Amino acid sequence: GHPRTLAEPLAPRDVFIAVKTTKKFHRARLDLLLETWISRHKEMTFIFTDGEDEALARHTGNVVITNCSAAHSRQALSCKMAVEYDRFIESGRKWFCHVDDDNYVNMRALLRLLASYPHTRDVYIGKPSLDRPIQATERVSENKVRPVHFWFATGGAGFCISRGLALKMSPWASGGHFMSTAERIRLPDDCTIGYIVEALLGVPLIRSGLFHSHLENLQQVPTSELHKQVTLSYGMFENKRNAVHMKGPFSVEADPSRFRSIHCHLYPDTPWCPRTAIF
Ligand code: UDP
Ligand code: MN
Repeated sequence: GHPRTLAEPLAPRDVFIAVKTTKKFHRARLDLLLETWISRHKEMTFIFTDGEDEALARHTGNVVITNCSAAHSRQALSCKMAVEYDRFIESGRKWFCHVDDDNYVNMRALLRLLASYPHTRDVYIGKPSLDRPIQATERVSENKVRPVHFWFATGGAGFCISRGLALKMSPWASGGHFMSTAERIRLPDDCTIGYIVEALLGVPLIRSGLFHSHLENLQQVPTSELHKQVTLSYGMFENKRNAVHMKGPFSVEADPSRFRSIHCHLYPDTPWCPRTAIF
C-alpha cells in the first residue's frame, strides 16, 4: 500500500465523487459547495439527495434522487451509500470517492493522491475514525453472533475506493446487499464500508492525514499546507465552532466555513474572488 510515483495520469473523468446531502441542507450547505469546489469540477461530482430541487437541477445535471428516506437513521444513510455505490459501478470510472456536504474537496490534491495508486488494485484510503479498530458484533445466522474488529475511514472526512476493490465488494454492496450487510453489524454506512473491505475482504485501510472531518481540531491544519490537503470540513467539535484557520480574503463573519477563502487561495482567478487574492 505505498504510493507509486510511476503511475498513469488521471483525468477528472476517471473519478466519481459522490456528495451525500439531504433536502434541508441544499441551501444551507450545498450552495456553498456549488459556488466553490464543485463549480470547477462538475463532470466529476454527483449529488445524492432525497428531494427534488429545481434550483439545484439548474446548477448541475448530476443529481441523483435516491428514494431513500430523509431521516438521519442508519437505514436511510445506508440506503444512500448503496445508491452511491451502484451509480459508481454503472459509471465505469476508475475511482469512487464519497464526501459529505460539509466537505471541501481539493481536486488537484485528490487527483495527485489517486494517481499514485493503480485503480486496478485494492485501494481503500481515508482517515481512520478512531485510534483503534472498531469492535462490532457480526450476526452470522438467526441466533449466532461473533465479535469482529476492523478499521474504517470516517465518512465525514471523505474516502476513496479503487474500481478493482469496488468490484470485489459487489457481493456485499451491490443492489440491495449493502443494506442487509449494514444490518448484519448494525453500524452506520461508513463502518459498513470498512467491514466489507477490511473484515470480509481482508484489504487494509490506507491511512491518510490529508482527509479532514470536523471531528478533529481543524485549526491545527497549517495554513502553509492547505493546498496539500485532499478534503477539509467545518462544523462543530467539542461544542465549539470548528473551521480551518485561514486569513482572508473574507472575514470569519462573511465566510464562517472558510471555504470561500480557501477556494480563492486555490483558484485566485475565480470571478468573485478579490483581486488581491492573486498575490
Ligand atoms: N445527512 C443526510 N440525511 C439526514 C441528515 C444528514 O443525508 O437526515 C447527511 C448530511 O447531508 C451530511 C452527512 O449526512 O452529508 C452528515 O451529516 P451532518 O454533517 O449533519 O452530521 P455529522 O457530521 O455530525 O455526522
Ligand atoms: Mn458533518
